[in-house]
Amino acid sequence: MTTLRLILGDQLDAGHGWYRAPRADVVHVLMEIRQETDYVLHHAQKILAIFAAMRAFARELRDRGHRVHYLAIDDPRNTQSLTHNLDWLIVRHRAARFEYQAPDEWRLDEQLRRHVEGLAIPGRMVDSGHFLSARDTAARLFEGRRQWLMEHFYRHQRQRHGLLLTASGQPLGGRWNYDAENRKAWPGQPAEPEDTRARHDHGALWRTIVAAGVRSFGEPAEGQLAWPLDRREALTQLEAFIDAGLPHFGDYQDAMSARAWRLFHSLLSFALNVKLLNPREVVTRAEQACHEGRVPLAAAEGFIRQILGWREYVRGVYWARMPGYEHSNVFGHTRPLPAWFWTGETRMRCLAHAIGQSLAQAYAHHIQRLMVIGNFALLAGLDPMAVHRWYLGVYIDAFEWVELPNTLGMSQYADGGLLATKPYVSSAAYIHRMSDYCKGCHYDRKARTDERACPFNALYWDFFARHADRLAGNPRLGLVYRQLGQMRAEDRRALGIRAEQLLNSLDAL
Ligand code: FAD
Ligand code: SF4
Repeated sequence: MTTLRLILGDQLDAGHGWYRAPRADVVHVLMEIRQETDYVLHHAQKILAIFAAMRAFARELRDRGHRVHYLAIDDPRNTQSLTHNLDWLIVRHRAARFEYQAPDEWRLDEQLRRHVEGLAIPGRMVDSGHFLSARDTAARLFEGRRQWLMEHFYRHQRQRHGLLLTASGQPLGGRWNYDAENRKAWPGQPAEPEDTRARHDHGALWRTIVAAGVRSFGEPAEGQLAWPLDRREALTQLEAFIDAGLPHFGDYQDAMSARAWRLFHSLLSFALNVKLLNPREVVTRAEQACHEGRVPLAAAEGFIRQILGWREYVRGVYWARMPGYEHSNVFGHTRPLPAWFWTGETRMRCLAHAIGQSLAQAYAHHIQRLMVIGNFALLAGLDPMAVHRWYLGVYIDAFEWVELPNTLGMSQYADGGLLATKPYVSSAAYIHRMSDYCKGCHYDRKARTDERACPFNALYWDFFARHADRLAGNPRLGLVYRQLGQMRAEDRRALGIRAEQLLNSLDAL
């Protein structure tokens, strides 16, 4: 009585209950399939890192005595479809039962649920055991509310998991949230931590992927792939971050610089999202470092909030709103992405840096994603579905359950304000305050309407003027609309004309 167990490419958790002891009656299946490489155009490093991590995981399971059937992308028996492969693998292994771990993406959840209904053998889904809340925790907590405030969810999570609390259950240090202390610009010191991640040469695998006809974009980083591909490397990266990044994470969480690509961010999202690391061990490690006096409370709290709060919260939003959430577009924006989203070649220095780095590294940190690229996309009225597909393809950590609410909800406000209390947009003033991008830029950050004026400025005012019917009543935007109301009519007109010129020539900026 053989059981066939499916392991998806983002389910590489060697600590899962499935692997407690090897069993002769269980075959584990992993597959590299075009279905998964092709549902969106992916960054080369993302395809490479996932396949390489899957191969390492299969090796580890075999070494521990488990039976594994690994279907490589160039295996002639590979139909490149998840369900067609499952059908013949069930016959091939004479499986009497089929099991899979709960997928994180609605697309795969639905595909597997339907397939199991039609199977001639019993099939069942088991928990992946990965998250710190259930798929529906947020939906239950926010039932009946129009706005889903992350802070409310986060406090609930802190109490539930007993993190950074005093013996009487109060927040350590007397406050739940030290966000206000996490907004410093980076003056160039302390130095960005050295990038000590191991480099991998996966040239042979890359050639196999290309020969199989998989299309991609971005740098494959041949010989230099730096993402942790197994648990040992992921743990090493976690320790390196706790030592060198976390102490300054709080202070410079929102900072950006052309001289530093990741500042004090952890680079752990890939390892977390493919389940090489468990969020519980990551937040526990940060809390421990705080108790040991190695990192300030504000830094530990800021970091724990991202994982215990934001990461779990956006997953809750995803499961509450899918399917259909991906079509959100309250502003009715339809402009295609400018060509430089695929090259990084624009005279806007902030965007050239953030997009150029995304194409080179498959990584940009949160504020680059939100306040440079996403900010521009929203101000320019780019089609949110096209923006979503770009983010889903480009980042090493992009899986729909986490990418979609961040892109459509938080960054593009396309859901009308479920996650964000106001659109995350700014003029050049914010980018200048938080970065060194503006110095040396072709555009003038202070100018609004002349030819060299920073495009963010006119687009910012034009955005609020265009969407006044939807946004003017938002109490958090009172100041913006008061300023707009006090502007002279000719200044408003000039801003409108400049914005129109910009919108008609996005490719040339
Ligand atoms: P750090 O800054 O060191 O943060 C630590 C961890 O906290 C991250 O590894 C991540 O697991 C978690 N985290 C932080 N912020 C968020 C958040 N807003 N939502 C969920 N988890 C968070 N994150 C993804 O994992 N995948 C995505 O596809 C993704 N797309 C994004 C798209 C947009 C438009 C925006 C604004 C954010 C997106 N994020 C996404 C969230 C965040 O930008 C990344 O998690 C982070 O940049 C990863 O780098 P890091 O590991 O160095 O993170
Ligand atoms: Fe970006 Fe404008 Fe600053 Fe240039 S001047 S870096 S375009 S914000």
